[in-house]
Amino acid sequence: MADRRCPLYDRGRNVANKTEAEIEQLILERLLSGSLPNGTGHRIFGGKGDGIRCVCCDELITARQIQYDVEPNDTQSLAMHLNCYNAWANTVVWIQRALAEAKPTAIGADGSNKRVFLIAYSYELMVKRAAILRASGYGVTSVVGNEAAKVVLAASSREYDLFIISPAAPEQVRLQMAHWLSREYPRIRILALNPGDNEKLDVLKYNANDNLPDVWLPMVAMAASDRVLPAEAYG
Ligand SMILES: [Zn+2]
Repeated sequence: MADRRCPLYDRGRNVANKTEAEIEQLILERLLSGSLPNGTGHRIFGGKGDGIRCVCCDELITARQIQYDVEPNDTQSLAMHLNCYNAWANTVVWIQRALAEAKPTAIGADGSNKRVFLIAYSYELMVKRAAILRASGYGVTSVVGNEAAKVVLAASSREYDLFIISPAAPEQVRLQMAHWLSREYPRIRILALNPGDNEKLDVLKYNANDNLPDVWLPMVAMAASDRVLPAEAYG
């Protein structure tokens, strides 16, 4: 069986527990939540590791490893392992391409608008998010609160392409909705819009920072085209 450890660590004494795939997943999550920069116009300085923590994989960069200091602007300097830098730069390009390709898919293969069911926890947020979604071409049904969602869904004969769980409720409340939806509608994806990096719903494949519509809106298109595979526990 192949060694799945990140090749980055084979060169240093600091043997990490994370695999390359796990590091890529971390980088992807951090880009989508906005905690890693997603631009391409940055300055880079390379050198020996100086023992500080890598912003991509959270492991120390030892003197036997190569460290890249990335400066996305005049005030920020981010230390990364050489290989983590490459994974980050590749992921930035991948996201930009995926977002560009995802834009037209508010319209389904049959030419009709995709339908989104939005669960919000404040009236104001519901109106704002629904307006953004409608302006982007989606059909939107929106409610405030879990109980309203269950009642409306039970009475509705419509097919939905995606569920969106908004921020502004405790994690437990949002999680309860995610569990209920994935049990009742096991084939439909769920996207959680989160107030910040720390409050994402780990059971879901799709999480995004609510404050970054440039990121979450194309993600709506991606998730609405993505069906849950029978082997997956959750959408
Ligand atoms: Zn690293």
